[in-house]
Amino acid sequence: MSYLTLKNINKIYPNGYHAVHNFNLEIDKGEFIVFVGPSGCGKSTTLRMIAGLEDISNGDFLINGKRANELGPREREVAMVFQSYALYPQMTVYDNIAFGLTLQGVDEDVIDEKVRNTAKILGLTDYLERMPRALSGGQRQRVAIGRALIRKVGIFLMDEPLSNLDAKQRVTMRSEIAQIHHETGATTIYVTHDQTEAMTLADRIVVMKDGYVQQIGTPHDLYFDPVNVFVAGFIGEPPMNFIRGTVTNGAIQFGDLTLDLSKKLGDRVKEYEGKPIVFGFRPESIALGEQKDAYVVACTVELTEMLGDNTNVYIKEQEERAILKVDPHDTPEVDSRITFSIPYESVYLFDGETEFIIK
Ligand code: ADP
Repeated sequence: MSYLTLKNINKIYPNGYHAVHNFNLEIDKGEFIVFVGPSGCGKSTTLRMIAGLEDISNGDFLINGKRANELGPREREVAMVFQSYALYPQMTVYDNIAFGLTLQGVDEDVIDEKVRNTAKILGLTDYLERMPRALSGGQRQRVAIGRALIRKVGIFLMDEPLSNLDAKQRVTMRSEIAQIHHETGATTIYVTHDQTEAMTLADRIVVMKDGYVQQIGTPHDLYFDPVNVFVAGFIGEPPMNFIRGTVTNGAIQFGDLTLDLSKKLGDRVKEYEGKPIVFGFRPESIALGEQKDAYVVACTVELTEMLGDNTNVYIKEQEERAILKVDPHDTPEVDSRITFSIPYESVYLFDGETEFIIK
């Protein structure tokens, strides 16, 4: 039996706005689940329904197989870390972490042991007597996590916990969160709009858009087997390139170039004649020059971004634009003509009407 079950969960706000539609998910104990999607897609709403901070309009939320819709936040055994981690400024790190237990009247010795254990996991042992203002953003966020962690609850909920940190701190804190999860094994549900955070942290990712779940899967599933154009474009950085066209004589055009779709679809290409189709390829799945079993494309270099480990090359061909990821040693000149190959096997085709993948 799953630890947590969300069965046809819906949220309709009092103003009538339907923010979450038929959300279904089973979560095992210890899993790290990430809800990802653009701002406003219903991630926080779903998290808040799990936390008990927001009513569930329709559907069932089960903990260990028992309906929990009506349980208050405390009875659900959840701890939540928010985006704004608001520590008590007049209290030391120690007291901030201990606060929840102090309120509950837990024995001081017990509190002391728990605070020190939690601080150890979070690398805060040397900072326990400091005031929050004397900490970096990352350290403050660790204290906020410590406050939640010390309660040893079953479910750990995090809503964009890294959004107040700078880019470097985010990367550090991200790996720390992964490590904390590894050490505590706490079932975690984490909300972010950042696909990199989702990919690096999650056991399984739930991709949402406009209140609907698009796909649930491991990072590997989502990257290699996206179900639709949205997921394909959302997961991966830079995003997948899309060429849209109407199938004519079994092909679509990229500038003057004819992309023969029978290479991918074989005889089935006939089914799509006259229909819109989306041709997708990832920036990193190309090779410069001409290769066998590949679409070979000639184009002009518009811009290059040397990033150290790779270079992003922005190309154009008439009205079409795309981004390629190349080895930095192969960075082409801006305005030069280049040729690149897209192996047939790394091309994704989507139905242009439904936007679903064509397998
Ligand atoms: P996300 O976390 O993905 O950014 P939210 O879950 O916060 O999205 O919001 C989902 C949608 O619900 C948004 O369009 C938002 O404006 C709307 N929404 C959030 N809270 C309320 C509310 N209290 N009343 C009405 N609409 C709301």
